[in-house]
Amino acid sequence: MNNNEFLVLGAGIQGICIALELAKQGKYVTIIDQDTIPFNRASLRNEGKVHLGIVYMNDPTFATPKLMLKASMEFRKSLERWIGDKSYHLGLSNPFYYLVAKDSFLNPEELEMRYQKMEEIFDDYTSKHADWDYLGTKPSYLTKRVSDEKANELFGDEVVQAAFETAEYSVDTELLKKYLTEALLSNPRISFCPNHHIKNISRNNEMLTVSGFVGNKEFRFEAEQVINATWEGKFALDESFGVAKPKDLLHRLKYRVMVKIDPSLLERPSATMVIGKYGDVVIKKDGTAYLSWYPAGCLGWSTEISPPETWNEVSRGIVSEEKANALSSIFLEEIEKWFPGINKSITYLVDGAPIVAYGKTDVDDSNSKLHDRTNIGLKTYGGNYHSIDTGKLTTAPMFAVESVKSILNRVYS
Ligand SMILES: Cc1cc2nc3c(=O)[nH]c(=O)nc-3n(C[C@H](O)[C@H](O)[C@H](O)COP(=O)(O)OP(=O)(O)OC[C@H]3O[C@@H](n4cnc5c(N)ncnc54)[C@H](O)[C@@H]3O)c2cc1C
Repeated sequence: MNNNEFLVLGAGIQGICIALELAKQGKYVTIIDQDTIPFNRASLRNEGKVHLGIVYMNDPTFATPKLMLKASMEFRKSLERWIGDKSYHLGLSNPFYYLVAKDSFLNPEELEMRYQKMEEIFDDYTSKHADWDYLGTKPSYLTKRVSDEKANELFGDEVVQAAFETAEYSVDTELLKKYLTEALLSNPRISFCPNHHIKNISRNNEMLTVSGFVGNKEFRFEAEQVINATWEGKFALDESFGVAKPKDLLHRLKYRVMVKIDPSLLERPSATMVIGKYGDVVIKKDGTAYLSWYPAGCLGWSTEISPPETWNEVSRGIVSEEKANALSSIFLEEIEKWFPGINKSITYLVDGAPIVAYGKTDVDDSNSKLHDRTNIGLKTYGGNYHSIDTGKLTTAPMFAVESVKSILNRVYS
Protein backbone atom coordinates (compact mmCIF):
# COMPACT_ATOMS: atom_id res chain seq x y z
CA MET A 1 0.00 0.00 0.00
CA ASN A 2 1.25 3.44 -0.96
CA ASN A 3 -0.02 6.50 0.99
CA ASN A 4 -0.25 9.92 -0.62
CA GLU A 5 -1.68 13.32 0.07
CA PHE A 6 -2.14 14.15 -3.62
CA LEU A 7 -2.52 11.45 -6.25
CA VAL A 8 -2.89 12.50 -9.90
CA LEU A 9 -4.22 9.94 -12.39
CA GLY A 10 -3.00 10.34 -15.98
CA ALA A 11 0.25 11.91 -17.19
CA GLY A 12 -0.94 13.76 -20.27
CA ILE A 13 -0.73 17.55 -20.48
CA GLN A 14 -3.54 17.92 -17.95
CA GLY A 15 -2.21 15.59 -15.25
CA ILE A 16 1.37 16.83 -15.67
CA CYS A 17 0.40 20.52 -15.38
CA ILE A 18 -1.70 19.75 -12.28
CA ALA A 19 1.17 17.82 -10.67
CA LEU A 20 3.63 20.63 -11.46
CA GLU A 21 1.30 23.28 -10.04
CA LEU A 22 0.71 21.26 -6.85
CA ALA A 23 4.49 20.90 -6.47
CA LYS A 24 4.91 24.64 -7.08
CA GLN A 25 2.53 25.19 -4.17
CA GLY A 26 4.83 23.06 -1.99
CA LYS A 27 2.86 19.79 -2.14
CA TYR A 28 4.20 16.27 -2.62
CA VAL A 29 2.48 14.49 -5.49
CA THR A 30 2.35 11.01 -6.99
CA ILE A 31 1.26 10.78 -10.63
CA ILE A 32 0.42 7.44 -12.22
CA ASP A 33 -0.15 6.35 -15.79
CA GLN A 34 -0.72 3.15 -17.73
CA ASP A 35 1.99 4.15 -20.20
CA THR A 36 5.73 3.61 -19.77
CA ILE A 37 6.42 7.32 -20.42
CA PRO A 38 4.53 10.56 -19.77
CA PHE A 39 2.85 12.57 -22.55
CA ASN A 40 2.48 9.71 -24.97
CA ARG A 41 -1.24 9.86 -25.91
CA ALA A 42 -3.69 12.54 -27.08
CA SER A 43 -1.48 15.40 -25.83
CA LEU A 44 1.27 14.35 -28.21
CA ARG A 45 -0.78 13.15 -31.20
CA ASN A 46 -2.83 16.26 -31.91
CA GLU A 47 -2.70 19.37 -34.03
CA GLY A 48 -1.25 21.60 -31.31
CA LYS A 49 -3.49 24.53 -32.22
CA VAL A 50 -3.85 27.02 -29.39
CA HIS A 51 -7.40 28.05 -30.15
CA LEU A 52 -8.29 31.73 -30.21
CA GLY A 53 -11.93 30.63 -30.40
CA ILE A 54 -12.51 31.36 -34.08
CA VAL A 55 -13.15 27.75 -35.03
CA TYR A 56 -16.19 27.73 -32.73
CA MET A 57 -18.24 30.32 -34.61
CA ASN A 58 -21.25 28.01 -34.67
CA ASP A 59 -21.79 28.42 -30.92
CA PRO A 60 -24.51 31.13 -30.99
CA THR A 61 -23.87 32.07 -27.34
CA PHE A 62 -20.15 32.72 -28.01
CA ALA A 63 -19.44 30.98 -24.70
CA THR A 64 -17.06 28.45 -26.31
CA PRO A 65 -15.02 31.03 -28.29
CA LYS A 66 -14.81 33.22 -25.17
CA LEU A 67 -13.52 30.30 -23.10
CA MET A 68 -10.95 29.38 -25.78
CA LEU A 69 -9.79 32.98 -26.14
CA LYS A 70 -9.21 33.28 -22.39
CA ALA A 71 -7.42 29.90 -22.24
CA SER A 72 -5.23 30.77 -25.23
CA MET A 73 -4.19 34.04 -23.58
CA GLU A 74 -3.26 32.12 -20.42
CA PHE A 75 -1.58 29.20 -22.20
CA ARG A 76 2.02 30.46 -22.33
CA LYS A 77 1.81 32.33 -19.03
CA SER A 78 0.58 29.21 -17.21
CA LEU A 79 3.31 27.07 -18.79
CA GLU A 80 5.90 29.66 -17.72
CA ARG A 81 5.09 28.75 -14.09
CA TRP A 82 6.53 25.28 -14.70
CA ILE A 83 8.98 25.53 -17.62
CA GLY A 84 10.13 29.17 -17.36
CA ASP A 85 11.39 30.90 -20.51
CA LYS A 86 10.98 27.76 -22.60
CA SER A 87 7.32 28.83 -22.75
CA TYR A 88 8.50 31.40 -25.33
CA HIS A 89 10.00 28.65 -27.50
CA LEU A 90 7.14 26.27 -28.25
CA GLY A 91 7.96 25.88 -31.95
CA LEU A 92 5.19 28.06 -33.40
CA SER A 93 3.84 27.01 -36.78
CA ASN A 94 3.18 29.40 -39.63
CA PRO A 95 -0.03 31.31 -38.76
CA PHE A 96 -3.38 29.93 -39.90
CA TYR A 97 -5.61 30.99 -42.71
CA TYR A 98 -9.25 29.96 -42.32
CA LEU A 99 -10.65 28.72 -45.62
CA VAL A 100 -14.39 28.86 -46.13
CA ALA A 101 -15.45 25.73 -47.99
CA LYS A 102 -17.98 26.10 -50.81
CA ASP A 103 -20.39 23.88 -48.84
CA SER A 104 -19.69 25.47 -45.43
CA PHE A 105 -22.93 25.85 -43.50
CA LEU A 106 -21.94 29.44 -42.70
CA ASN A 107 -21.12 31.59 -45.71
CA PRO A 108 -18.19 34.08 -45.74
CA GLU A 109 -20.42 37.07 -44.93
CA GLU A 110 -22.03 35.30 -41.95
CA LEU A 111 -18.62 34.24 -40.75
CA GLU A 112 -17.23 37.74 -41.16
CA MET A 113 -20.00 39.09 -38.92
CA ARG A 114 -19.21 36.52 -36.23
CA TYR A 115 -15.47 37.17 -36.53
CA GLN A 116 -16.26 40.84 -36.02
CA LYS A 117 -17.99 39.97 -32.75
CA MET A 118 -14.86 38.00 -31.79
CA GLU A 119 -12.74 41.12 -32.38
CA GLU A 120 -14.94 42.92 -29.85
CA ILE A 121 -14.50 40.08 -27.35
CA PHE A 122 -10.72 40.17 -28.00
CA ASP A 123 -10.55 43.98 -27.56
CA ASP A 124 -12.52 43.71 -24.35
CA TYR A 125 -10.16 41.00 -23.03
CA THR A 126 -6.98 42.86 -23.90
CA SER A 127 -8.28 46.15 -22.48
CA LYS A 128 -8.87 44.40 -19.13
CA HIS A 129 -5.58 42.44 -19.00
CA ALA A 130 -2.61 44.75 -19.46
CA ASP A 131 -0.07 41.89 -19.39
CA TRP A 132 -1.85 39.73 -22.00
CA ASP A 133 0.00 37.78 -24.65
CA TYR A 134 -0.89 34.99 -27.04
CA LEU A 135 2.05 32.55 -27.23
CA GLY A 136 4.42 35.49 -26.80
CA THR A 137 2.80 37.50 -29.62
CA LYS A 138 0.57 40.56 -29.40
CA PRO A 139 -1.65 40.48 -32.48
CA SER A 140 -3.61 43.62 -33.31
CA TYR A 141 -6.52 41.62 -34.77
CA LEU A 142 -7.72 37.99 -34.83
CA THR A 143 -8.96 37.66 -38.40
CA LYS A 144 -8.93 39.67 -41.63
CA ARG A 145 -10.56 38.64 -44.91
CA VAL A 146 -8.07 38.40 -47.78
CA SER A 147 -8.88 39.32 -51.38
CA ASP A 148 -10.47 36.60 -53.54
CA GLU A 149 -7.39 36.82 -55.84
CA LYS A 150 -5.07 36.02 -52.97
CA ALA A 151 -7.33 33.20 -51.73
CA ASN A 152 -7.39 31.73 -55.27
CA GLU A 153 -3.66 32.07 -55.72
CA LEU A 154 -2.92 30.18 -52.48
CA PHE A 155 -5.74 27.65 -52.28
CA GLY A 156 -7.35 27.43 -55.76
CA ASP A 157 -11.08 27.80 -56.36
CA GLU A 158 -12.18 24.16 -56.53
CA VAL A 159 -13.38 23.88 -52.92
CA VAL A 160 -12.56 27.23 -51.27
CA GLN A 161 -14.90 30.25 -51.63
CA ALA A 162 -13.11 32.76 -49.35
CA ALA A 163 -10.17 32.99 -46.96
CA PHE A 164 -9.37 34.83 -43.75
CA GLU A 165 -5.89 35.54 -42.48
CA THR A 166 -5.72 34.90 -38.71
CA ALA A 167 -3.41 35.41 -35.72
CA GLU A 168 -3.70 31.75 -34.69
CA TYR A 169 -0.78 29.29 -34.35
CA SER A 170 -0.07 25.70 -33.44
CA VAL A 171 2.68 24.73 -31.03
CA ASP A 172 5.00 21.77 -31.49
CA THR A 173 3.61 18.98 -29.31
CA GLU A 174 6.99 17.17 -29.33
CA LEU A 175 8.53 20.25 -27.69
CA LEU A 176 5.70 20.49 -25.17
CA LYS A 177 6.32 16.84 -24.35
CA LYS A 178 10.05 17.42 -23.90
CA TYR A 179 9.73 20.49 -21.67
CA LEU A 180 6.88 19.21 -19.52
CA THR A 181 8.36 15.72 -19.13
CA GLU A 182 11.73 17.17 -18.11
CA ALA A 183 10.03 19.43 -15.55
CA LEU A 184 7.94 16.55 -14.20
CA LEU A 185 10.72 13.98 -13.88
CA SER A 186 13.24 16.40 -12.36
CA ASN A 187 10.87 17.80 -9.73
CA PRO A 188 11.88 16.46 -6.29
CA ARG A 189 8.29 16.77 -5.00
CA ILE A 190 6.81 14.56 -7.76
CA SER A 191 6.99 10.76 -8.12
CA PHE A 192 5.97 9.34 -11.48
CA CYS A 193 4.71 5.73 -11.49
CA PRO A 194 4.53 4.29 -15.02
CA ASN A 195 2.79 1.10 -16.22
CA HIS A 196 -0.06 1.42 -13.69
CA HIS A 197 -3.38 0.59 -15.34
CA ILE A 198 -6.07 2.02 -13.05
CA LYS A 199 -9.33 0.12 -12.79
CA ASN A 200 -11.15 1.39 -9.74
CA ILE A 201 -11.56 4.28 -7.31
CA SER A 202 -13.38 3.83 -4.00
CA ARG A 203 -13.81 5.53 -0.63
CA ASN A 204 -12.25 4.21 2.54
CA ASN A 205 -13.54 6.54 5.30
CA GLU A 206 -11.87 9.91 4.64
CA MET A 207 -9.31 8.36 2.28
CA LEU A 208 -9.65 7.25 -1.34
CA THR A 209 -8.33 3.96 -2.70
CA VAL A 210 -7.12 3.73 -6.30
CA SER A 211 -6.47 0.23 -7.55
CA GLY A 212 -5.53 -1.56 -10.74
CA PHE A 213 -2.77 -3.60 -12.29
CA VAL A 214 0.93 -3.31 -13.04
CA GLY A 215 1.29 -6.13 -15.56
CA ASN A 216 -0.76 -8.87 -13.87
CA LYS A 217 0.10 -7.75 -10.34
CA GLU A 218 -2.53 -5.78 -8.43
CA PHE A 219 -1.66 -2.36 -6.94
CA ARG A 220 -3.52 -0.19 -4.40
CA PHE A 221 -2.76 3.45 -3.56
CA GLU A 222 -4.38 5.35 -0.68
CA ALA A 223 -4.73 9.10 -1.04
CA GLU A 224 -6.30 12.05 0.72
CA GLN A 225 -6.98 13.83 -2.59
CA VAL A 226 -7.32 12.18 -6.00
CA ILE A 227 -7.36 14.09 -9.29
CA ASN A 228 -8.54 12.10 -12.30
CA ALA A 229 -7.02 13.47 -15.54
CA THR A 230 -7.20 10.34 -17.68
CA TRP A 231 -9.06 11.83 -20.71
CA GLU A 232 -10.80 8.89 -22.42
CA GLY A 233 -10.23 6.79 -19.27
CA LYS A 234 -11.94 9.37 -17.03
CA PHE A 235 -15.58 8.35 -17.27
CA ALA A 236 -15.13 4.63 -16.51
CA LEU A 237 -13.10 5.59 -13.43
CA ASP A 238 -15.72 8.17 -12.42
CA GLU A 239 -18.37 5.47 -12.77
CA SER A 240 -16.39 3.08 -10.55
CA PHE A 241 -16.62 5.83 -7.90
CA GLY A 242 -20.38 6.18 -8.42
CA VAL A 243 -20.46 9.17 -10.79
CA ALA A 244 -23.01 8.59 -13.56
CA LYS A 245 -21.98 8.67 -17.22
CA PRO A 246 -22.73 12.13 -18.67
CA LYS A 247 -25.45 12.57 -21.28
CA ASP A 248 -24.35 12.36 -24.93
CA LEU A 249 -20.76 11.38 -24.12
CA LEU A 250 -18.94 10.78 -27.39
CA HIS A 251 -15.47 9.45 -28.18
CA ARG A 252 -14.13 9.87 -31.71
CA LEU A 253 -10.86 8.36 -32.91
CA LYS A 254 -9.10 10.88 -35.15
CA TYR A 255 -5.93 10.17 -37.14
CA ARG A 256 -3.17 12.56 -38.17
CA VAL A 257 -0.61 12.25 -40.96
CA MET A 258 2.79 13.90 -40.39
CA VAL A 259 4.80 14.76 -43.50
CA LYS A 260 7.99 16.38 -44.70
CA ILE A 261 6.90 19.11 -47.11
CA ASP A 262 8.39 20.32 -50.36
CA PRO A 263 10.64 23.36 -49.61
CA SER A 264 8.41 25.51 -51.86
CA LEU A 265 5.70 25.32 -49.15
CA LEU A 266 7.89 26.50 -46.28
CA GLU A 267 6.54 30.07 -46.25
CA ARG A 268 2.92 29.07 -46.83
CA PRO A 269 0.36 29.76 -44.13
CA SER A 270 -1.15 26.90 -42.17
CA ALA A 271 -4.81 26.32 -43.02
CA THR A 272 -8.06 25.19 -41.42
CA MET A 273 -11.13 24.63 -43.58
CA VAL A 274 -14.46 25.68 -42.03
CA ILE A 275 -17.27 24.88 -41.13
CA GLY A 276 -18.04 21.20 -41.48
CA LYS A 277 -16.19 17.89 -41.94
CA TYR A 278 -12.94 19.12 -43.43
CA GLY A 279 -9.31 19.28 -42.40
CA ASP A 280 -6.17 21.18 -41.52
CA VAL A 281 -2.61 21.69 -42.66
CA VAL A 282 -0.11 22.93 -40.08
CA ILE A 283 3.13 24.14 -41.64
CA LYS A 284 6.03 23.97 -39.21
CA LYS A 285 9.26 25.90 -39.44
CA ASP A 286 11.31 22.68 -39.46
CA GLY A 287 9.90 21.70 -42.87
CA THR A 288 7.31 19.25 -41.57
CA ALA A 289 3.52 19.51 -41.53
CA TYR A 290 0.56 18.07 -39.65
CA LEU A 291 -2.34 16.96 -41.88
CA SER A 292 -5.89 16.06 -41.00
CA TRP A 293 -8.78 15.19 -43.26
CA TYR A 294 -11.85 14.45 -41.16
CA PRO A 295 -13.94 12.43 -43.68
CA ALA A 296 -11.14 9.85 -44.01
CA GLY A 297 -9.38 10.34 -40.67
CA CYS A 298 -12.23 10.08 -38.18
CA LEU A 299 -12.32 6.29 -37.97
CA GLY A 300 -13.94 5.60 -34.63
CA TRP A 301 -17.22 6.69 -33.03
CA SER A 302 -18.18 5.38 -29.60
CA THR A 303 -20.93 6.40 -27.20
CA GLU A 304 -19.82 3.84 -24.60
CA ILE A 305 -18.36 4.93 -21.25
CA SER A 306 -14.87 4.28 -22.62
CA PRO A 307 -13.74 3.72 -26.20
CA PRO A 308 -12.95 0.19 -27.45
CA GLU A 309 -9.64 -1.40 -26.39
CA THR A 310 -8.73 -1.53 -30.09
CA TRP A 311 -8.17 2.27 -30.06
CA ASN A 312 -5.38 1.86 -27.56
CA GLU A 313 -2.63 0.94 -30.03
CA VAL A 314 -3.06 3.90 -32.36
CA SER A 315 -3.11 6.24 -29.34
CA ARG A 316 0.38 4.95 -28.52
CA GLY A 317 1.53 5.47 -32.10
CA ILE A 318 1.12 1.90 -33.36
CA VAL A 319 -0.52 1.79 -36.81
CA SER A 320 -0.08 -0.95 -39.45
CA GLU A 321 1.93 0.00 -42.52
CA GLU A 322 -1.03 -0.84 -44.73
CA LYS A 323 -3.36 1.53 -42.83
CA ALA A 324 -0.71 4.26 -42.65
CA ASN A 325 -0.17 4.09 -46.43
CA ALA A 326 -3.89 4.10 -47.17
CA LEU A 327 -4.57 7.11 -44.91
CA SER A 328 -1.56 8.98 -46.18
CA SER A 329 -2.59 8.64 -49.85
CA ILE A 330 -6.17 9.68 -49.28
CA PHE A 331 -5.18 12.67 -47.09
CA LEU A 332 -2.65 13.90 -49.68
CA GLU A 333 -5.09 13.44 -52.54
CA GLU A 334 -7.98 15.25 -50.78
CA ILE A 335 -5.90 18.07 -49.31
CA GLU A 336 -4.16 18.72 -52.66
CA LYS A 337 -7.56 20.05 -53.87
CA TRP A 338 -7.26 23.05 -51.51
CA PHE A 339 -3.59 23.12 -50.58
CA PRO A 340 -1.72 22.80 -53.88
CA GLY A 341 1.73 21.25 -53.62
CA ILE A 342 0.99 19.16 -50.53
CA ASN A 343 0.98 15.96 -52.62
CA LYS A 344 4.76 16.29 -53.05
CA SER A 345 5.14 15.60 -49.31
CA ILE A 346 6.80 12.51 -47.82
CA THR A 347 4.85 10.87 -45.00
CA TYR A 348 6.92 9.91 -41.96
CA LEU A 349 4.30 9.20 -39.27
CA VAL A 350 0.64 8.22 -39.03
CA ASP A 351 -1.12 7.90 -35.69
CA GLY A 352 -4.14 9.24 -33.83
CA ALA A 353 -5.97 9.57 -30.55
CA PRO A 354 -9.45 9.82 -29.08
CA ILE A 355 -11.32 13.10 -28.88
CA VAL A 356 -13.66 13.31 -25.90
CA ALA A 357 -16.71 15.55 -26.36
CA TYR A 358 -20.49 15.60 -26.07
CA GLY A 359 -22.90 15.25 -28.96
CA LYS A 360 -25.11 12.88 -30.92
CA THR A 361 -24.46 14.11 -34.43
CA ASP A 362 -21.29 15.07 -36.28
CA VAL A 363 -19.66 18.46 -36.86
CA ASP A 364 -21.39 18.96 -40.22
CA ASP A 365 -24.73 19.27 -38.39
CA SER A 366 -25.08 22.92 -37.40
CA ASN A 367 -27.18 21.85 -34.39
CA SER A 368 -24.60 19.33 -33.13
CA LYS A 369 -23.59 19.77 -29.50
CA LEU A 370 -19.99 19.28 -30.68
CA HIS A 371 -19.94 23.00 -31.49
CA ASP A 372 -20.27 23.72 -27.76
CA ARG A 373 -17.19 22.94 -25.66
CA THR A 374 -18.15 24.68 -22.44
CA ASN A 375 -19.08 21.62 -20.39
CA ILE A 376 -15.45 21.00 -19.42
CA GLY A 377 -13.07 21.55 -16.51
CA LEU A 378 -12.96 20.29 -12.92
CA LYS A 379 -15.75 18.71 -10.88
CA THR A 380 -15.35 17.62 -7.26
CA TYR A 381 -17.26 14.73 -5.66
CA GLY A 382 -17.45 14.06 -1.92
CA GLY A 383 -14.92 16.78 -1.14
CA ASN A 384 -11.74 14.95 -2.19
CA TYR A 385 -12.34 13.16 -5.51
CA HIS A 386 -11.67 15.62 -8.32
CA SER A 387 -12.23 14.71 -11.95
CA ILE A 388 -11.26 16.93 -14.87
CA ASP A 389 -12.45 17.00 -18.45
CA THR A 390 -9.50 18.68 -20.19
CA GLY A 391 -11.62 19.69 -23.17
CA LYS A 392 -8.73 20.84 -25.35
CA LEU A 393 -4.95 21.09 -25.27
CA THR A 394 -5.59 24.85 -25.25
CA THR A 395 -7.50 24.79 -21.97
CA ALA A 396 -5.23 22.35 -20.05
CA PRO A 397 -2.64 24.77 -18.58
CA MET A 398 -5.31 27.28 -17.49
CA PHE A 399 -7.43 24.49 -15.97
CA ALA A 400 -4.37 23.21 -14.07
CA VAL A 401 -3.81 26.57 -12.37
CA GLU A 402 -7.52 27.07 -11.63
CA SER A 403 -8.07 23.47 -10.46
CA VAL A 404 -5.16 23.46 -8.02
CA LYS A 405 -6.35 26.77 -6.59
CA SER A 406 -9.83 25.36 -6.09
CA ILE A 407 -8.56 22.08 -4.58
CA LEU A 408 -6.17 23.79 -2.16
CA ASN A 409 -8.88 26.24 -1.13
CA ARG A 410 -11.10 23.30 -0.21
CA VAL A 411 -8.37 21.45 1.64
CA TYR A 412 -7.05 24.38 3.66
CA SER A 413 -10.11 26.58 4.21
C1 LIG B 1 -6.25 14.32 -33.62
C2 LIG B 1 -6.51 15.31 -32.53
C3 LIG B 1 -6.31 16.67 -32.76
C4 LIG B 1 -6.50 17.59 -31.75
N1 LIG B 1 -6.19 18.89 -31.99
C5 LIG B 1 -6.23 19.79 -30.97
C6 LIG B 1 -5.82 21.13 -31.20
O1 LIG B 1 -5.34 21.49 -32.28
N2 LIG B 1 -5.93 22.01 -30.17
C7 LIG B 1 -6.43 21.66 -28.95
O2 LIG B 1 -6.52 22.53 -28.09
N3 LIG B 1 -6.79 20.37 -28.69
C8 LIG B 1 -6.70 19.43 -29.67
N4 LIG B 1 -7.05 18.13 -29.44
C9 LIG B 1 -7.50 17.75 -28.08
C10 LIG B 1 -6.29 17.53 -27.16
O3 LIG B 1 -5.38 16.65 -27.75
C11 LIG B 1 -6.77 16.96 -25.83
O4 LIG B 1 -7.80 17.78 -25.31
C12 LIG B 1 -5.67 16.90 -24.78
O5 LIG B 1 -4.49 16.40 -25.30
C13 LIG B 1 -6.13 16.01 -23.62
O6 LIG B 1 -5.09 15.98 -22.66
P1 LIG B 1 -5.15 14.95 -21.49
O7 LIG B 1 -3.95 15.15 -20.66
O8 LIG B 1 -6.47 15.04 -20.82
O9 LIG B 1 -5.16 13.52 -22.23
P2 LIG B 1 -3.91 12.52 -22.62
O10 LIG B 1 -2.80 13.22 -23.19
O11 LIG B 1 -4.52 11.40 -23.40
O12 LIG B 1 -3.50 12.00 -21.19
C14 LIG B 1 -4.30 11.12 -20.44
C15 LIG B 1 -3.37 10.11 -19.79
O13 LIG B 1 -4.16 9.24 -18.99
C16 LIG B 1 -3.67 7.92 -19.13
N5 LIG B 1 -4.75 6.99 -18.83
C17 LIG B 1 -5.97 6.92 -19.42
N6 LIG B 1 -6.70 5.93 -18.82
C18 LIG B 1 -5.91 5.38 -17.87
C19 LIG B 1 -6.10 4.31 -16.94
N7 LIG B 1 -7.24 3.63 -16.84
N8 LIG B 1 -5.05 3.99 -16.13
C20 LIG B 1 -3.88 4.68 -16.19
N9 LIG B 1 -3.66 5.69 -17.03
C21 LIG B 1 -4.67 6.04 -17.87
C22 LIG B 1 -3.20 7.84 -20.58
O14 LIG B 1 -2.22 6.83 -20.74
C23 LIG B 1 -2.65 9.23 -20.81
O15 LIG B 1 -1.26 9.32 -20.59
C24 LIG B 1 -6.92 17.17 -30.45
C25 LIG B 1 -7.13 15.81 -30.22
C26 LIG B 1 -6.92 14.89 -31.22
C27 LIG B 1 -7.10 13.44 -30.92
